[in-house]
Amino acid sequence: MDKKVLVAGGAGYIGSHTCMKLSESGYTPIVFDNLTNGHEEFVRWGLLERGDIRDPQRLAEVIAAHKPLAILHFAALIEVGDSVTNPLAFYENNVIGSLNLLQAAIKGGVNHVVFSSTCATYGLPETETLDETHSQKPINPYGRTKWIVEQAIRDYSDLLGLRAVMLRYFNAAGADFEGRIGEWHQPETHAIPIAIEAALGRRRDFKIFGTDYPTRDGTCVRDYIHVLDLADAHVRAVDYLLAGGKTEAINLGTGVGTTVKELLDTIRTVSGRAFPVEESARRPGDSTLLVADNKKAAALLGWAPRYGIEDIVRSAWNWHTKHNASH
Ligand code: UDP
Repeated sequence: MDKKVLVAGGAGYIGSHTCMKLSESGYTPIVFDNLTNGHEEFVRWGLLERGDIRDPQRLAEVIAAHKPLAILHFAALIEVGDSVTNPLAFYENNVIGSLNLLQAAIKGGVNHVVFSSTCATYGLPETETLDETHSQKPINPYGRTKWIVEQAIRDYSDLLGLRAVMLRYFNAAGADFEGRIGEWHQPETHAIPIAIEAALGRRRDFKIFGTDYPTRDGTCVRDYIHVLDLADAHVRAVDYLLAGGKTEAINLGTGVGTTVKELLDTIRTVSGRAFPVEESARRPGDSTLLVADNKKAAALLGWAPRYGIEDIVRSAWNWHTKHNASH
């Protein structure tokens, strides 16, 4: 039997890599995407159903047509800075759209959901590494929209029989090693693609946002996780739900922190290129240090990250050299 799963936002960065892994694992991904930020050429593992999660009727139609075993929900606006300047769009897409999707799932008899959440739901870290019991006090509208949906999922699980895995990503990075799909945001705000574009001469320089943080070299520490490790965890989350697993929030990170300066060193080593780096002011809203405690993912999903920062940078470099986002 065809093991169909609906992938909302499957034409985007993490969604498309997950479709690849789902397909390799015997699932048939059906991509539901409005292509606002997604890319039609990223839909290579399954068919595309064009639609918007803000459109309940279209959601109901697609769910009725395919009767998926589970829904994976990646469709969201993700730029923290945009969420501060345009909170309406974030609440409309990330909250109203997600509630539409959850309602359509329940009404359509699909009780298994994998939801893309984020370490941004934690807010300012109170401990060296963050586990899932860390307090959740998001400090920007983006984090709050994801937190609100987590609460709805818990209520729907308790009251309506939904079972869901809420995956709290740390810093997704890297790309398919064959360079077919990769990180392609417009405009780009993330550290790795920006530094690679600087190394490729497509940008004038890389600006380090703050060198006065209380860390080993003064720059922010992040837990960069390879997008293929994320994708693998999503497939495991679907398997877990189909085997009867109950609703849980699970961190996805490597447990290893990298400073911005260490990241730049890795990019210089992997690319063999030097590029201008400017030390500039802190970016408002940045946490000093965000590193995952990933024990729960190991325990519940049998998951462990396979790739480190060098693999991440090598695969991202490969993708960006092949792909010029400005075309
Ligand atoms: N960063 C930077 N310069 C840039 C973009 C990012 O110094 O042009 C830093 C940023 O302050 C943070 C880290 O790189 O400490 C990762 O930022 P990114 O935007 O990739 O992810 P975030 O952690 O904000 O989700």
